[in-house]
Amino acid sequence: MIDTSTQERVLRRIDDREVVAFTQEMVRLESQNGNEGPIARWLADRLAQMGMEVRLTDVHRGRLNVVGVLPGREAGIGLLFHGHTDTVPFLNMENPLSGEIVDGCIWGRGACDQKGGLAASIMAVQAVVRAGIPLRKGLTVAAVVDEESEHRGSYALVEQGIRADGAIVTEPSGLRLVLACKGTVPIRITFRGKVAHGATPWLGVNAIEKAAKAVLALGELPLRAVDLPGLGTMRGSINVGLIKGGTAYNNVAHECSVFLDRRMVPGETQATCLAEIRQLLDRLAAEDPHLRAALEVDRPDWEWEPIKRRGLNPAVTPPDAAVAQALMQAHRAVVGEPVELGYTNGYMDMDFLVNDLGIPTANYGPGDLALAHSDHERLDIGELLTATRVYALAALEMCL
Ligand SMILES: [Zn+2]
Repeated sequence: MIDTSTQERVLRRIDDREVVAFTQEMVRLESQNGNEGPIARWLADRLAQMGMEVRLTDVHRGRLNVVGVLPGREAGIGLLFHGHTDTVPFLNMENPLSGEIVDGCIWGRGACDQKGGLAASIMAVQAVVRAGIPLRKGLTVAAVVDEESEHRGSYALVEQGIRADGAIVTEPSGLRLVLACKGTVPIRITFRGKVAHGATPWLGVNAIEKAAKAVLALGELPLRAVDLPGLGTMRGSINVGLIKGGTAYNNVAHECSVFLDRRMVPGETQATCLAEIRQLLDRLAAEDPHLRAALEVDRPDWEWEPIKRRGLNPAVTPPDAAVAQALMQAHRAVVGEPVELGYTNGYMDMDFLVNDLGIPTANYGPGDLALAHSDHERLDIGELLTATRVYALAALEMCL
């Protein structure tokens, strides 16, 4: 544990008004998925001004990952802050770029998911720099693109082989310490039938009827639950979210596609989930020879093959990992109470860090996940400031 005078020295360097203004500025920089270039260049400048070594990587058509490193005396990175610069589309949000403060919250698209977390981590690094405390190991901020769609940003970090002793994913967790996430397999099942006139349906095969049968059977699939020590019981799930089929009310539908979201628990993989559904479809086909279905990994916004092959997997970090311990201590020091521990039902890029890069990774961040992607997205300023302090202390713990 780092002595309290060093901690105080760093915490005194956090200027609350500056943290808020920095976050507002980020919210005002439009960066809907696909347009991460401008915010990346802006961040690169800010990180360089702070004295970080900055690397910009063009991940895909001007969409830039930013990696800033504050080197330590020894080789290697003690802590990596991970955040994404892209946001979901504005949708029906009013004034999505306002960044204005109402009732103690910063409003705007991306305020919660997740410019607040990214801003807090950068302000934490700045406090460490300003306090003039020489680090033993390096401190890194990685701001990546495309978390909201094909995950090309984190995929690129893996290709670069980035290394660190521990990582913090700065996605909103409501200041809970989240040490596991589920995986997700987006699946498309296409049912094929045979066209006929609606007046003589017995001459055709109705693909919508076959799909309906399968959708009901999918609801009956037994799903696995696993106990994660210290974190709770995690359960898999299936949601049929989109269905497309048929040509007219008075035609027999020759095709129907069902898109579903299969959420995975540790121990399951994309391959095991596909096999399970294939088995179910084969059983239905054995009972009904007219039921013909093809199965593939697909979702409407994906066209990039590597992510379809790789999949988005569940990830777990044990509570005794150094980065988890550092966050527990830091949270207690700042908030005065132990941090709440758990997992998320959602998916997070911690998958890439844990499973591909072998970096123990925790998620801790400001913001209420229920507000992410919503038309009333906002970020509680109190949480933003707490996260900044917790990040700063965790950085000392991992890098001194
Ligand atoms: Zn996010």
